Amino acid sequence: MAIKVLFSAPDGQFARYRAPLSQAFEAAGLTVDLAEDHAPEETDFIVFAPGGQVSDFRPFTRTRAVMGLWAGVESIVTNRTLTQPLARMVDHGMTRGMVEYVAGHALRYHIGMDGHIVNPDHEWAHRTTPLAADRPVTILGLGALGAACAETLAQLGFPVTGWSRSPKTLDNVTCLSGQDGLHRALEGAQIVVLLVPLTAETENVLDAAALARLAPGAFVINPGRGALIDDDALLEALGSGRVAHATLDVFRTEPLPADHPYWSHPRVTVTPHVASETRPVTAARVIAENVRRAEAGEPLLHLVDRDRGY
Ligand code: NDP
Repeated sequence: MAIKVLFSAPDGQFARYRAPLSQAFEAAGLTVDLAEDHAPEETDFIVFAPGGQVSDFRPFTRTRAVMGLWAGVESIVTNRTLTQPLARMVDHGMTRGMVEYVAGHALRYHIGMDGHIVNPDHEWAHRTTPLAADRPVTILGLGALGAACAETLAQLGFPVTGWSRSPKTLDNVTCLSGQDGLHRALEGAQIVVLLVPLTAETENVLDAAALARLAPGAFVINPGRGALIDDDALLEALGSGRVAHATLDVFRTEPLPADHPYWSHPRVTVTPHVASETRPVTAARVIAENVRRAEAGEPLLHLVDRDRGY
């Protein structure tokens, strides 16, 4: 009998995912009935993104797993009706997109590209740019995305320090953990990248005290989540020059309200939550692999720990 997989995501997403998912299920040797309208009591698995038709998981009595299309799960882990196992998305395509975004903005700041792109007075000024080896970078979060960014920035020559909850070892990256590790990771950092998930423990991780530890004139890149930053503290640090510039992709309210000071701030680049996105072809393979595992009685990949919140 066909495995019933319900697709629940905002309008338009099914059209993007239907063919890649069907191909991935077939390649995994699975016979799947993929639809947007399976009855809850007949649904075996749910492919899920917030904003679709499912928000109450209680009627899904036979559903064996919910497989998120997003890496961030802060809006799902708090849903008390969700008692089924929840897998989040770790997608090679999304990881590569994030590496490109972070490396691009880090290099933009490092080389001082803005000074050449916006040069209304046609100033012919030679400024020596330090080499990457002289520009310490700190990445908060060493998970699927943070570790990949750390590896690429280290390959470019930056001295990279990473911070995670549990101790880690990564080639060419100084890995720190815990509160003391956070302080050491931020001390003197010239570029800081936020790639921790939003949890009760990480909210406002970049507050006034944390910003005060950065090197004067540091750069902030936040593709993680808006609430990781204390916005008032960042605006203050931008005003004082403690932070020279910030690239912000995520915000407490999205879309960023038209009157938010970030929009017009000369030292802030706003990008509209585009740092990276789930790529249907590569993500479909991850979902098919998890359905195959569930069918074979094997442990699922990328399960979310509800207590940790990510
Ligand atoms: P992972 O779960 O793979 O990694 C999270 C990392 O953060 C881990 O290293 C984890 O530590 C660390 N961490 C979590 N809590 C703490 C804590 N309290 N103190 C210190 N470190 C902590 O997540 P991903 O790398 O896949 O994604 C990171 C985030 O990126 C997502 O949660 C999402 O919010 C955001 N994102 C943004 C996108 C965009 O387009 N802007 C796209 C995709 C994701 P440990 O290793 O010990 O578990």
